[in-house]
Amino acid sequence: MFEPPVQRLIDELARLPGIGRKSAQRLAFHLLHVEKADAERLSEAIVELREQVKLCARCFNVTGDVECSICRDLRRDPATICVVERPQDIVVVESTREFHGRYHVLGGSISPIAGIGPDQLRMRELVGRIENEGVKEVIAATNPTVEGDTTALYLARLLKPLGVKVTRLASGLPVGGDLDYADELTLGRALTGRQEM
Ligand SMILES: [Zn+2]
Repeated sequence: MFEPPVQRLIDELARLPGIGRKSAQRLAFHLLHVEKADAERLSEAIVELREQVKLCARCFNVTGDVECSICRDLRRDPATICVVERPQDIVVVESTREFHGRYHVLGGSISPIAGIGPDQLRMRELVGRIENEGVKEVIAATNPTVEGDTTALYLARLLKPLGVKVTRLASGLPVGGDLDYADELTLGRALTGRQEM
């Protein structure tokens, strides 16, 4: 339909989440008119992201180092771990300023429909941390969705026999959405009002 270089960019952009065919076309034609230096900065930023950003060896947050800045921060309480689905959820919980422990990123949630079971998530790594880091409480801060709730229940069943307290964010979060659908105040309240599972 379009010249091959334009079509190629449209195809690549359309593969990104939340970008449909129409948006991809609009972005591609916008990029056709930007300064060459601006286009180069954008492509360099994408390449650099893939080359320099790694996952934290301890919690699987994004980092440019072996361990992320939160894991390296000695003021953070190692006895409490907040378990989230994705690295971007850490930013959301941090914005509440109500949490001073460490994190663990599962890499998703249990979803039989999508074929994702506990083995596809970083459960084994979490169990290892509980045994090695003197963890006393695990907060299941998975999304307020069916999959997030299923994952939280699984966490409780897996971890309680290890002698840790497993808590879940209090209700009041917008049901069915991602964690970042909630505003900071609501999420902060859900965090302080968390309940034992
Ligand atoms: Zn980390």
